[in-house]
Amino acid sequence: MAVPPEVLERIKKLREEINYHNYRYYVLDSPVISDEEYDALMQELKALEEQYPETITPDSPTQRVGAPPSDKFRTVPHHIPMLSLDDAFTPEEIREFDKRIKRLLNIDHDIEYTLEPKIDGLAVELVYEKGVFVLGSTRGDGYNGEDVTNNLRTIPSIPLRLLSIEVPIPELLEARGEVYMEKDAFEKLNEERKKQGLPTFANPRNAAAGSLRQLDPKVTASRPLNIFCYGVGRVKGHSFQTQWEILHTLRKWGLRVNPLIKKVKGIEKAIKYHEDLAKLRPQLNYEIDGVVIKVNDLKLQERLGTKARSPRWAIAYKFEAAQGITRIKDIILSVGRTGAVTPVAIMEPVKVGGVTISRATLHNEDEIRRKDIRIGDWVIVRRAGDVIPEVVKPLKERRTGKEKPFVMPKYCPVCGSPLVKKPGEAIYRCPNPDCFPRLAKRIAHFVSKPAMDIEGLGPKVVEQLITAGIIRDIPDLYHIKKEDLLSLEGFGEKSAQNLLDAIEKSKHTTLPRFLFALGIRHVGEVTAQILAKHFGSLENIMNASLEELEAIPGIGPEVATSIYKWFRDEKNRQLIKRLLDAGIVIEPMKKETSALPLEGKNFVFTGTLKSMKRSEAKKLVMELGGQVQSTVGRHTDYVVVGENPGSKLEKARQLGIKTISEEEFLKLVGKK
Ligand code: NAD
Repeated sequence: MAVPPEVLERIKKLREEINYHNYRYYVLDSPVISDEEYDALMQELKALEEQYPETITPDSPTQRVGAPPSDKFRTVPHHIPMLSLDDAFTPEEIREFDKRIKRLLNIDHDIEYTLEPKIDGLAVELVYEKGVFVLGSTRGDGYNGEDVTNNLRTIPSIPLRLLSIEVPIPELLEARGEVYMEKDAFEKLNEERKKQGLPTFANPRNAAAGSLRQLDPKVTASRPLNIFCYGVGRVKGHSFQTQWEILHTLRKWGLRVNPLIKKVKGIEKAIKYHEDLAKLRPQLNYEIDGVVIKVNDLKLQERLGTKARSPRWAIAYKFEAAQGITRIKDIILSVGRTGAVTPVAIMEPVKVGGVTISRATLHNEDEIRRKDIRIGDWVIVRRAGDVIPEVVKPLKERRTGKEKPFVMPKYCPVCGSPLVKKPGEAIYRCPNPDCFPRLAKRIAHFVSKPAMDIEGLGPKVVEQLITAGIIRDIPDLYHIKKEDLLSLEGFGEKSAQNLLDAIEKSKHTTLPRFLFALGIRHVGEVTAQILAKHFGSLENIMNASLEELEAIPGIGPEVATSIYKWFRDEKNRQLIKRLLDAGIVIEPMKKETSALPLEGKNFVFTGTLKSMKRSEAKKLVMELGGQVQSTVGRHTDYVVVGENPGSKLEKARQLGIKTISEEEFLKLVGKK
């Protein structure tokens, strides 16, 4: 069957792209796409080549390792090719690998595997002749590497002479390992480069590769590099039976081997090891990107053999990437408890470390300028363990010219006050001391139990949401996304989903709850009830005249004015519109002009009231349809407790009757 021209075209395009990214990654040590994006291109190409095997050419990236050595260095041949590894991302793929091995070997018992952390650095070969380090090279294209002997000599953990205490030194040893940079050393190096105005490295792997592939060994010497060894090429004068033996013997010869290596029987144990290592990963001071699973028995390895690019006896079981590449859609401001105003990047959602992220703090204007981050930029984002997502750097190569530099707004996005910045400080602040607390209080009231009743959204979470710039006003609550919550401390997949469900549920509400939630001055729960029953719909309340409001029993002139004015304010009408647009549905309510809010409720007073005489309070209760009793009994609904209460309080407690303070009473009757 002929290969369709569009498939040929796509294959050609994919090969060109992959070759370009290989060059950026292996030769320039400066990738412009994430490993995930790269892996996706590679997988697409592999799938097409599998479907149309006649398209496979020896120079296809699927058949080759790395990139040819750079002509900056002398070329060194590898007598036994340094191959890559096939990769897998799921337990199913790993079980498939195990099945394949058993099938090829025609055995049905559990296979013994070695498990090794997959160090994210660059592969090198160290040649020891009679125990002396004579030659060191990079992997290059697998067949030819770059001579970096003098650079490798500067790495303190690479012995210049092998030890012979336990195992005699072999005639020839080609040891293989991964050169890497520790995470804290990487951070420090980047800090220093920042200070010197030099470009920073995107990750420890690039830093390690860039540091080793230097023409001047002095530069390499100044960089903190390290090595873990995990295999051998040619060996003369010593023979091995297993991979496990290789690892332990390398260690005895004084080469550094990772301490977390393990030997297991059966593939399920390998899957468990991967799970455990993923948990340990954030605590390690070096980057690992998966587990390398190898058939332990070298005879079996030999029987399995290798393919063009990778051995059949090993597989890299990868973790989800801790870095991703995405685009900045916008930069907004968030206001914190202290008034600090922080720019936050709003990004296209991207999966990083197993979590989708869509926003990251950019700290301050100076930081944005220093990193030269613009709206519309493609950026590298990082999230290590539980750490808050961070924008590492923009990919300037991907700019189209349409990106916009960020300009710090002059006014607070919440209250509109002009922002201030103290000399010598990087942070802008909103000088209005009420700004954050007022907003936090307004939102906390809106979501509270008697209002919209959004479970799981306490004042602390409200503050977190404001500080992260996720909400700046009430309607923003209804646009929160799961990835927003996952970027907050203390949120996991489940708690985030629960909160989203609670927010969704709150969209179906009643008129009294909605009115109360709006936080109109003097409109407590009782007044909200009165209004709802009297008018039946939000629209009627919004359009009510002052006279109409004043004529309602239980609503005094001050309360009526407050309600009237609130609904005349364009800002408030916009707020209601945005809430309704967000999908809030208010249950229709029967108009009950005759029913009074405290109907059927029995009150008892004890102690002295501060704001009014007891007789006035009684009158108020009765006007609103309630009854006042002289003693506390089973039918009492509320005991109002004033100053110096008498035995009625004790009685109420015994009977478990609700007691309320004078303050609460005033709220209940709509006087506060
Ligand atoms: P690889 O890095 O996925 O796996 C093979 C390598 O693993 C070996 O060469 C060795 O260096 C290393 N390794 C670490 N620990 C090991 C251990 N214990 N035993 C054996 N080997 C160990 O394969 P690769 O061919 O070097 O690179 C492909 C990967 O590199 C891609 O999947 C992608 O993640 C990344 N890449 C990214 C870009 C980009 O533009 N972002 C470009 C090219 C490659």
